[in-house]
Amino acid sequence: MPQKEKCVTNSFHLVFRAKLRLASRVFSLTVLGSGSSGNSALIATDNCRILVDIGFSSRQICQRLQAVDVNPEIIDAVLLTHEHGDHVCGLEVFCRKYQIPIYCNSGTAEALRNNWLTDYPHWHFFGTGSAFILKDIEVRSFYVPHDAIDPVSFTFLSNEGSIGFITDLGYAPKLALERIRDVHTLVIETNHNEKLLQDSQRPWSVKQRILSRHGHLSNEAAARSVAAIGGDQLRRVILGHLSRDCNRPDVALEAMYSIGRTGIDFYCAEQDKVSPVFAIKPCLLMKEQVEPVCENGHCHQYSQSSFEFLGWNFV
Ligand SMILES: [Zn+2]
Ligand SMILES: [Zn+2]
Repeated sequence: MPQKEKCVTNSFHLVFRAKLRLASRVFSLTVLGSGSSGNSALIATDNCRILVDIGFSSRQICQRLQAVDVNPEIIDAVLLTHEHGDHVCGLEVFCRKYQIPIYCNSGTAEALRNNWLTDYPHWHFFGTGSAFILKDIEVRSFYVPHDAIDPVSFTFLSNEGSIGFITDLGYAPKLALERIRDVHTLVIETNHNEKLLQDSQRPWSVKQRILSRHGHLSNEAAARSVAAIGGDQLRRVILGHLSRDCNRPDVALEAMYSIGRTGIDFYCAEQDKVSPVFAIKPCLLMKEQVEPVCENGHCHQYSQSSFEFLGWNFV
């Protein structure tokens, strides 16, 4: 069956086809790498490219961007969650080289500017809990408990959908869960398996720090958080920030599968590997389980007006 016929199988879709023809923009997430030794992700539309953290060397970041055909010179902003080395180690060299604006709260900036980047002219500050617009992406920040000066997590919203990004937190407070409740794609920390951590050779003080309310989220705690948000919108969960010696992808994924949620794709990000480019496609959210509208082999995404028609208040 030709793809066009195969995809247009529901009269519900036909109502929207005229509108959908107008909406073919891309909204995507690529995890450039994630783990206890380095974290960075790319959030992109056709018009805007944002890096969340730069926890790899500038050279590594460039190579990983190159792997997904993105020129470092066109990065619009680097957003920082907090000042720990596994989130900022390539920041200075990368930003100085390409003169990229850095967005963070003042506490994180102070922690960084004490040592370097004191004279950097492209700092932009936001208050924790505030929202701001970068071209066609709305960024919302919110507090998470972690042993940094003023750690934050983010949600990213565009006309095509929303992404939640929540790593480096000792536990998931109610406010954080509310902020990620309606996202389509969620990146969440699954730092460790509690038994593997307890059995590891790490000093007692380090174990206590990781397990504390300002440490890191375990597989089990992350799975409980995913189960708790439980909205119809969530379609993809990307596990990140895995400890190299206190966790394994199969163990982390198993914890997620154990919550028994159907209709969600789970993917485990890796430290040394760039993830696939995950497209945020609200058309996959349709409760009718219809396929995306396609034309000439290209699947369209839903526009803001489509969401409004559906009565979804996602911005
Ligand atoms: Zn941290
Ligand atoms: Zn970290």
